[in-house]
Amino acid sequence: MKRLLTMFAVVAAALVFTGCANTTKTGAVGIKRQQLLLVSSESINAQAAKGYASTVSQAKSRKKLNTDARQTARVRTIANRLIAHVGHFREDARNWEWEVNVFKDDTINAWCMPGGKIGVYTGIIEKLRLTDDELAAVMGHEIAHALREHSREQASTNVIQQLGVKLAARAAKVDERVVGTVAKYGFELPFSRSHESEADVIGLELMARAGYDPNAAVNVWRKMSAVSGVNPKLLEFMSTHPSHDTRITDLNAMIPTVMPLYESAPKARRSATASRSSARKARGARK
Ligand SMILES: [Zn+2]
Repeated sequence: MKRLLTMFAVVAAALVFTGCANTTKTGAVGIKRQQLLLVSSESINAQAAKGYASTVSQAKSRKKLNTDARQTARVRTIANRLIAHVGHFREDARNWEWEVNVFKDDTINAWCMPGGKIGVYTGIIEKLRLTDDELAAVMGHEIAHALREHSREQASTNVIQQLGVKLAARAAKVDERVVGTVAKYGFELPFSRSHESEADVIGLELMARAGYDPNAAVNVWRKMSAVSGVNPKLLEFMSTHPSHDTRITDLNAMIPTVMPLYESAPKARRSATASRSSARKARGARK
């Protein structure tokens, strides 16, 4: 009971010190959920940047970094179109030090670490044969997790759960303690259902504004569940992004809201490499 009261005091203190905040504007999709943010963005983002730099340098030394120049350019072009619209959700994200890299790895995975550090695996692009619109859906979803600072929320919850009232009372020290464990936030731990639905709808708005067909988001999850039975080991994405039946229903319900944004957006030029079948068609047409 005493422990419970202590916990309650920690939560109460956290709410007093940081308030229940909201990391983003509501956007057309209307995200309003208040968030518990006990740990600072600075500590999370600094740790993420460090983790990202070491992931990138390891991949580089193993010759697994951006091995296909055309593929890298394609991913970066789509990412940049999405990033151009992050200001609709938060102004400061326009000035984040965004980085986009492609890792040669058969695993079906992609993530955006806190502060805008994006990683896309060749496995997700090639095994799901993602079109540009689908790739925009995947990256839009991941960017949305970063904009909403879902990792920071997870870390804050972790502080409440793991540390006692003494540490919580000294907020600065909390930051020090928590940064050591923060590397796993952002792409190793599964997000909660509410985080997932927020990322889904914010991602949907970002892709629509960037000129990518929001219907592609539904395709991605269909493709994802189609391959998940084949070799679950390859599908790391599903361990951090569990598929829910409601996900596709919720996305479909939100599409009419973002469709006008897509219709009025300048359309992206589709990559030549987007679809092998269309390439085949083109070759066929020349015959
Ligand atoms: Zn997610």
